[in-house]
Formats: sequence, C-alpha cells, structure tokens
Amino acid sequence: MPTPYESSEIRFSDLAKDASINALLGGTQWKDDTISYSYPSSNSGLLWSQFFNGYGSPFGNGEPWSSSFKPLTASERFNFEKALQQWANVADIQFVQVAETPEVVGDIRPAYTSDPDGSVLAWSYLPSYSPAASDIWINTQSQLNREEWNPGSMSFETLMHEIGHSLGLKHPFYDGSSSKIEYQDEIEGEDENEGDDDDDDDDEDDLFDSVLPDSLDKVSYTIMSYTYADLEGEEGTGFSFHPTTPMILDIAAIQYLYGANDDYHAGNNTYTYTDAQTYHETIWDADGTDAIVYNGTIPSLFDLNPAGGSVIGQSVYVQANGIDLGLPVPNVWIADGVTIENVTAGQSDDILIGNHGSNILNGGLGIDTVIVEAPRNQFSLSKSINGYTLSEKDESHNQDTLINIERLAFDDYKLALDLNGHAGEVAKIIGAVFGSNTVSNQMYVGIGLSKLDDGLSYEQLAALAINAAGLSDHDEIVALLWKNLFGSAPQESDISPYVNLLDSGDITVGGLTALAADSSFNVQNINLLELSHTGIAYL
Ligand SMILES: [Zn+2]
Repeated sequence: MPTPYESSEIRFSDLAKDASINALLGGTQWKDDTISYSYPSSNSGLLWSQFFNGYGSPFGNGEPWSSSFKPLTASERFNFEKALQQWANVADIQFVQVAETPEVVGDIRPAYTSDPDGSVLAWSYLPSYSPAASDIWINTQSQLNREEWNPGSMSFETLMHEIGHSLGLKHPFYDGSSSKIEYQDEIEGEDENEGDDDDDDDDEDDLFDSVLPDSLDKVSYTIMSYTYADLEGEEGTGFSFHPTTPMILDIAAIQYLYGANDDYHAGNNTYTYTDAQTYHETIWDADGTDAIVYNGTIPSLFDLNPAGGSVIGQSVYVQANGIDLGLPVPNVWIADGVTIENVTAGQSDDILIGNHGSNILNGGLGIDTVIVEAPRNQFSLSKSINGYTLSEKDESHNQDTLINIERLAFDDYKLALDLNGHAGEVAKIIGAVFGSNTVSNQMYVGIGLSKLDDGLSYEQLAALAINAAGLSDHDEIVALLWKNLFGSAPQESDISPYVNLLDSGDITVGGLTALAADSSFNVQNINLLELSHTGIAYL
C-alpha cells in the first residue's frame, strides 16, 4: 500500500506499434492492475510528504500547503467514482478506495488547491515513485468549484482527463512541458515546466514525445486532447454536451497499457437511446451479439463500423463560448475492434451503415437509407419474407438483413426498395403516364420519389405527371392512359365514359390517373412484382 511518503510500484511503458497509441503514452504506468485511491481530508503534515520527491521543492507546486486546500464534497466524490469507473469499464484495472491514515493513503488522491489562472481547471501527475504521482488537484479558481460534476459537463470530462494522466496517458500534442517521465507535470492550459528539461536520458524522452496529427488531435477522439473541433475542422471551446466516457483513442491506449476489460458487456447487449437525454460516448463491448436501438424521433445516422461515429438523438455541437458551431458532431462512437451487429433506427428518416459482418439493419418508421460504401456489382440483393438480404459476393460473412429500409445507396447506384410505398407509386404513375419502358428512366424515378418523400400525395404526383406529359385535353389524357394500359389506341366509345367523368368534375385528372396507375393491367405492364424483388434504380 502506498503511504504519504511512497507510491506503489510502477513500470516503464513499452512503445506500441500504433503511432496513435504512442502519442498518448506518458512513459510510465502502474505495475498492479488494482489501483488505490483516497480522499485527503486535510493538509496535515502527517498525510503529505514534504520531502524533495513529495510536495517539497522541487517537485510539484506544494499543492497541499495552499490555504485553499479543501477536500471533495460527497457529491463530487460520487461523480469522481463514476469517472474512475469509466476507465475501469474499458481497461483491465480495478480501483479500490482506502481510508487515509498517516500510514496508508491511495495512489490517486483528488483534492482542491488553487492556481490563480481560472482557465486551469485541474492537473495531475503521471505514475512515478514520487508520492505526488497520480494525485489530482482541482483548481478552486475554476468552474469545477462552481458547477456539479455531472456526466456531460466540462467538469466530468476534466475528471476523466486527469484520471487518464494518473494512469499514464499524456496529452496527444506537444504541450511545452518537460517530457521527463518521472516528473511530468501536467498543468491544464499552462506550460510551467518550459525549459526545465535537465534530464540527461534524452533517448528515453524522445520515445514518448510523439504527437497526434491535427486530424486526430480532437476531444471527439481522445479526451486527452484540448481541441474541440467538428469533423469539418471548425474549432470551439467545448461541447454542448461533453464526452461521458473515454473515447476511441483513449480506449486503445489504456487497453494497450493495462489490457482490455474482457468481461465488460461480454453478453448480448442492447444499447437503447431515447430523446429523453443527450449522449456523447464511445461503446466498449467485449463480446456477444449486440444492438443499438433508438426509440426517438430525431433523424439520426447509425454507423456500425468499428471506430465509426453515429449521430443519434439529441444533437451535440462544438461550441464557442456557449454558442453552437457547425453541424451536430457524432455522439455515439464504437471503439475500434468492437462489433455491434444490429441496429433499429428511430421514427424519422434515418441513415444506416453496416459493418463488414452480418447485420440486421431495421429502419423503423420513416424513409430510411442504407449506405453501402462500395459499388453495386459487389453485392447481390434478394427479397426475403420481411425485407431484403444484401450479400457481398466475395465476402460470405458480410450478409445484411434489411428491414423497413426504403432506399439503398451504393457508391455508383441508388435503389428504391419501397415498392409497397413511394417507389411503387412512382413506378405505377410512370407506367400509366409515360409507358412501362420509362420505369427504367432513373431520372424520372428520382424526381417522383423526391416529390412523394417531400409530402406530395399520390394523386398530386399523378396530376403533375400528366402536366409534364404536356396534356390538358380530357380526350387526350384518357387516350394516353388507355394506350399505356392496353397497348393500342382506344375507340371513341372506350374512353367517353371516363372523359365524361372528367368533364363533369366527378373525378380529377390526378384521381383518374391514379386509378389507371393502380389497375392490374398497369401493375402487370411494369412488372411491379419483379421490381419488388430487384428494387428500382433512381438518380
Ligand atoms: Zn492534461
């Protein structure tokens, strides 16, 4: 057990093969996978080392000795333990609380002290043999002393960030501090150790000097970053709702150091999202057949690819001083290496993207589109009892079941599958007004779909098609419909009853055209049954 004068055993981290992991490695880590923490209740000299490797000179800033030292409140402890748990969920580590005595303290010791710069939220120390190692100091001058530390707040993200340091993770950018791994002083927003590098072991230093490229140095990928930016690069000062878990690169790095938590969500799990709260998280799931289910009404995007980002439910924005910037950012990520098999989308028009395994993609209500990031000819599509089966020809394990999916977008080709919905209505109207051969006109199909999807009724679209065919004379309209249905020009006696209905106003042009479109003759002409097996191509 660590004491006020001595930390637990540490070890020096090995470099990884993955550069994005190395960019987060501080160089040291705890040797044991059980890591202790404690809540200092006072700055009594009995509980803190004043020696040179403790909080005496030159180590640290003498934090315990500040008159602003104070312990965490009960609710702060509650959220601090939630933040610890977020790391224990993903890595093979356990946190145990110990009660502080002059003989025993925890390795991680959170408490308040002060830094006059209120933008410095908190800081902590990497694992080392100093008794200050892994201690977390909250700045009394910062917003953490003024707001609840609930998940989603900047404060909660800050706790997870500092715990990341306490476990051996560094910032993924060059922060100007000494890279001396024994002394690394991580002060948020400050470069206190600039020019302080008098370590002669430069080789060791250089190993742990790598940084992430700007494209990855974002809080969306790692909470060890300082950069709040959306995927287009627009930069702000925070999120409207902050991450509540370590993110993709954090999970990869902490699992590299301590191993993965293989017991976490190892069974079949359903991740249910609703509109009642906001989410910003990365899913770590050890095993099983898993599903994302969204019971909500906000148009959403679901991407099941490992390291993919989904936009689900209440929007999360990058903010600059409280003002939303740009588009909503992905707010539910899947950790690299994690397989979530199935998704059930919400009640609006949603976008679904499967992974390279077999997925059940259920669009729910609305006009839902499955995006396939490959050309059409790599896949075969067949009708099943409750939807479609989409199979990658050369990858037998990539076979998706599509349910309640109205549209399928390949890289080079779009298919409408809702032949019992809008696509069927469009095909029937095109067949009746322009002839069955025109059903293959992808532009016409695309125009018709966009009109119906935008809210035009079947009869309104039928009237629009007659208009587009350039007809207004009732004789000509009925003759056109007759010819397209029966293949030959009508006799006067064939069409006069229908012309009379139009002339008297008993039926509208749109209404009569819709009747013709729905007739079994037209349905056979356009081979609606066959279309329902293949889908209908559109632009
Ligand atoms: Zn930091």
